[in-house]
Amino acid sequence: MLPVIALIGRPNVGKSTLFNRLTRTRAALVADLPGLTRDRQYGIGRLGSRPYVVVDTGGIGTTPSGIETLMERQVQRAIDEADHLLFLVDARVGCTPEDLALAQRLRRLGKPLTLAVNKSDIGNPSILSADFHQLGLGEPWTISATQGMGVHDLIEQVLEHLPETVAGTDLSAADPERIRVAVVGRPNVGKSTLINRLLGEERLVTFDSPGTTRDSIFIPFERPGQEQRYTLIDTAGLRRRARIDDPIEKFSVIKTLQAIDQAHVVILVLDARAGIAEQDATLGSHILDSGRALIVAINKWDGLEPELRAQVRTQFERRLRFLDFAPVYRISALHGTGVGHLLDAVDLVYANANRDLSTPELNRLLESAVQEHPPPLVKGRRIKLRYAHQGGRNPPFIIIHGNQTEAVPETYQRYLINRFREGLDLFGTPLRIEFKTGQ
Ligand code: GDP
Ligand code: GDP
Repeated sequence: MLPVIALIGRPNVGKSTLFNRLTRTRAALVADLPGLTRDRQYGIGRLGSRPYVVVDTGGIGTTPSGIETLMERQVQRAIDEADHLLFLVDARVGCTPEDLALAQRLRRLGKPLTLAVNKSDIGNPSILSADFHQLGLGEPWTISATQGMGVHDLIEQVLEHLPETVAGTDLSAADPERIRVAVVGRPNVGKSTLINRLLGEERLVTFDSPGTTRDSIFIPFERPGQEQRYTLIDTAGLRRRARIDDPIEKFSVIKTLQAIDQAHVVILVLDARAGIAEQDATLGSHILDSGRALIVAINKWDGLEPELRAQVRTQFERRLRFLDFAPVYRISALHGTGVGHLLDAVDLVYANANRDLSTPELNRLLESAVQEHPPPLVKGRRIKLRYAHQGGRNPPFIIIHGNQTEAVPETYQRYLINRFREGLDLFGTPLRIEFKTGQ
């Protein structure tokens, strides 16, 4: 399970600056893709190879007490779901009455908590932090989110104290023979209905749902007469439907991020009747960042009027263009139409994500791509791309050696990716290119 760190503090203490610093390495990988919207609230950070979820809770403590706004509820939710609270204060301003009130509130939660004095770049850290001892939260860490000072050590310390939890509540989750499939999507797109279809009603009786509301449920299943076995990762909380009707309660970004992280293949469910929303694009960007194989299921296609169908197609192309590597299925989970094809697609994209790419073929494709459309000139010299080989699998990445490769424009990278994708028939998985200058 990905550990979850929530950033908490008054407005302007530097939460979003820290959030960006912690999550930006991932964002840079997929910069500048048309239609891509980033989640400014949830992100994946990495310490070495260990990933974790960062939540920016926004401006807590600003709402007058007694008024429960949507914002406050979401902050509360993030705090509930977090494994560790990172309480940020501002060295420039010093300890304020709001900080004191917030500290008191946070202490009562009994959650692991670390106090960090941000903006410590403006003076002597030990003098700046002295003022915050009155919060009664122990020795504060001094950091600078803008300079990066102390940030690595802080996160290291936080993660060190979090237990390395074992994936899932079911041993089948760790079974290497099974393809782990996560069904994700915003509330009411039809995830539960689809999962019911995939499993057949009778399977639901056979598993139980331990753990907290944050945990996804792992459901092992097989298809009659087929060798391949699967584990479905359910983020919809099937078993809890009866108790939870509130869409905010039912849907959890953190749970979704964790399910994506644990999956081999993600099925992103969209709702044709409701159209493609901002939240779909946000989820899409998380999936893209994760590097997981992906299938898009546009649900509720049954009896959809022709104008609506055309509208959904246009919206999809505009808002989710960055997911163009994924096969798209129009389905009706309610009637079962197209659902069987989804599992065939799961097998296929999983195989694609793990495929071995032959070096001669990669070089043939590189040569013809370069011939047809040469890379641009940089300072009067043409970028040279000499040879290619596979650098890794799942997601596959291709290493290209050449000269001045650091200057290859984003658009040209995309051109190459598309050429490789088409040439290798490699759909359903992200494909990455890494350039190396020299031999
Ligand atoms: P948030 O409201 O808590 O998300 O705060 P922001 O991240 O928006 O930061 C508020 C202001 O503080 C911005 O102008 C930042 O540039 C500035 N800031 C954030 N971190 C630091 C820091 O480490 N040092 C200094 N000097 N300024 C910072
Ligand atoms: P979840 O919140 O994503 O798990 O969504 P549900 O599976 O609970 O479905 C939300 C609503 O959409 C329910 O009323 C379903 O009956 C309805 N629904 C789900 N799939 C379809 C479909 O393929 N066609 C139509 N017309 N309605 C559907």
